[in-house]
Amino acid sequence: MLFKNLLPDYYFAAVTDISVEFLRSIGVRLLLCDLDNTLAVYSGEPPNEEVIRWKQALTDGGITLFIVSNTRTERAENYAAKLGVGYIKQALKPLRRNIIRAAALCGVPPMETALVGDQVFTDTLGANRSGIRSILTEPILLRKPFHKLRYIIERPIRRTVH
Ligand SMILES: [Mg+2]
Repeated sequence: MLFKNLLPDYYFAAVTDISVEFLRSIGVRLLLCDLDNTLAVYSGEPPNEEVIRWKQALTDGGITLFIVSNTRTERAENYAAKLGVGYIKQALKPLRRNIIRAAALCGVPPMETALVGDQVFTDTLGANRSGIRSILTEPILLRKPFHKLRYIIERPIRRTVH
């Protein structure tokens, strides 16, 4: 049923909220990850400190991170190289082919693989169709205005404590 394939197995507000403990608890040791609006606002920017720390925590915890991006440009390989992870670009999500190829390249069975991304019709649908766990996040661009608003609300408190 198509509709069922649009429902993510798990939801996190941000990709960096996905912990080693959580992935272990669901038996996942390979995390395939969307790039645009999941890891970075634009893949042209380098990985930020939070993403670098998160990737290191995954590596230390024995979890492999691998980028699966629909972008056609060389931005994906630049970003992946800076983060020190493998990648597939022009992945054509939600088609299964490259999602399954990514897991095969990493030598991890689909049962122990998840795909995280910000878009239901590419990332969630692609993961579900490929028989791997799907994790949905909020797009970074939507998160940012909230962060700004929160920061403004926090400002009087920051003034008080400084
Ligand atoms: Mg995306």
